[in-house]
Amino acid sequence: MRTKINFRQYGLYLIRWQLSTPILAVTLIVLASLSKISATIVANLIGGLIFFWVDKFIFTSPLLLAQWQVEENVQCCDCGKISRGYRLVKTSNYDRSKSPPKFRCEHCSQIKTQQLRQAGITV
Ligand SMILES: [Zn+2]
Repeated sequence: MRTKINFRQYGLYLIRWQLSTPILAVTLIVLASLSKISATIVANLIGGLIFFWVDKFIFTSPLLLAQWQVEENVQCCDCGKISRGYRLVKTSNYDRSKSPPKFRCEHCSQIKTQQLRQAGITV
């Protein structure tokens, strides 16, 4: 089975790893009087307390789980313009994965997204 990578999640996860570096560095400076091992244990504890919640958001937020399909040079189904087209495929409470694809230009896609939000779709 092929694993599908959600690049928004992956990107945020890589940024989140970078944020652990300053926490480690600052803790090691503040706790310089402790041994390096003890200070590292405290730094990892602080990191764990923070990043448990950050990771939980990254991997479970419905906002990040939204799947979009993007195609070049397609006709917008609303205004007819040929451009890059966007199509919302699936979110936690919306599924058009088995419907015939309808793409919208960036402008019309933003309007449609707003309408979906007003209708209670998480996107
Ligand atoms: Zn359009």
